[in-house]
Amino acid sequence: MFNLFRAQLMKRVGVCMALILTFSWLSIPGPLAGAQAAAGESAADAHTTYNELKSGQRLWKDKQYKAPEQPTVYLTFDDGPSPLTAKVLDILKEEDVKATFFVLGEQVKSHPELVRRALEEGHAIGNHTYNHVYKELYSGAQTFWDQLQQTEDIIADAAGIRPRLIRAPGGTFGNFDAFYFYYLDQAGYEVYDWNIDSGDSARPGVPASEIIQTVKKGPFKNETVVLMHDGTGHDQSVKALPEVIRLFKEKGYAFASLTTEVQPIHFSSGKIKWSRSLTEVGHEQLLAEAGEHMRGLEAAGLTKTASAAGEEEGASLAIVPKGAGKAKDEPLLPLELRLGERQLQLDAEQYRMVHGLEEVPLRPLIEAMGGQIHWDGSERTAVVRYGGYAAEYDFSRHELRLRAGGSLTAVHLPQMELIDGTVYVPLQATLLSLGCRIADSSEENGHMLVRASMSGGFVVSPLY
Ligand SMILES: [Zn+2]
Repeated sequence: MFNLFRAQLMKRVGVCMALILTFSWLSIPGPLAGAQAAAGESAADAHTTYNELKSGQRLWKDKQYKAPEQPTVYLTFDDGPSPLTAKVLDILKEEDVKATFFVLGEQVKSHPELVRRALEEGHAIGNHTYNHVYKELYSGAQTFWDQLQQTEDIIADAAGIRPRLIRAPGGTFGNFDAFYFYYLDQAGYEVYDWNIDSGDSARPGVPASEIIQTVKKGPFKNETVVLMHDGTGHDQSVKALPEVIRLFKEKGYAFASLTTEVQPIHFSSGKIKWSRSLTEVGHEQLLAEAGEHMRGLEAAGLTKTASAAGEEEGASLAIVPKGAGKAKDEPLLPLELRLGERQLQLDAEQYRMVHGLEEVPLRPLIEAMGGQIHWDGSERTAVVRYGGYAAEYDFSRHELRLRAGGSLTAVHLPQMELIDGTVYVPLQATLLSLGCRIADSSEENGHMLVRASMSGGFVVSPLY
């Protein structure tokens, strides 16, 4: 809010004046300082960053990736979902192969069930923007960012996940400058170009035989990302797919879907094909939005740091939920939660597993933790207090507002549900938002035992 207000004010007073204001305001503690601190930068640092990016230097967060033990191919399908996606999924199932679908928001609106099916069958979903229109997407980083958010909301509504994998329409070469890469990195996304272009979109109707010949040329790296398409009109890609799979099987490759633990492939920038410029004010605005997105991921327990304890697959949680491949009607075990010294027992009927994550009733959880909860019927909001934390689960806006250490964060939480008067929330994300975390979970004597380390409601360092 503060940033928006500032941006509007700046339009009026002009850039010079705006910059003076920016720097003087930045020294004032408060919400604005909070936004900057979240990006880990002082005003002077922010200015340096802007100039470095402007000079074309790419800047990344420190991250670690995992190299696979055997040569691995990541088949990727762009521009869907379309009716062809169902055929691709049939073939992948038949061949017992996992892949990744970079979907368009526009297409997900028409075929949400195909996104759900892909997830249920163990594939990953990535964001390929809303409409794929180059001249819009590459007119400026803000437009690209807005299309990503729009698509992310559509995918969240369709399938309850927020993908962190991104594919740039047309690839990043000649399209992405250092600013584009920077905001996506700061927001917790990973961008994937490819090693092998199957050539299936070189022109309309490239025959299957030609697609296969192109893929055969390689290069065959230890980790190979193959670009294919499952949008309308790509029947020949579907036709070529079984042979493409056979080719990699013969070469001894394992197949996997992408996760944020896979080292991304980034093309060099080349000469940017578009004329655009980004002001320092626009840069700050985008950086604030990216920071907010990252904090949303943290609140939902979907980042490496937040889910490091007891979550082996960590960063991939958002993309390929644990247990996604499990038989749907496999009975749940009773759940025993150890909340520090306190305990909560839930029978199998009292909680749910959704995309492999526990969703528990909010009231018994909060009461077992020693917190207070009440339901505000007129606002359709469950209000939780736990020591220095306050959380409002607002079902009229489907949003979670968190207050801790004097700051407020609102996040869209598609997983919260109101069923027959009971509020269900994702266990891990809820504990994290109250300063607690899951220490470990295990199956013991016919029940699930989850141990959490508790903050006691004491806000040491606000998460948000
Ligand atoms: Zn595309």
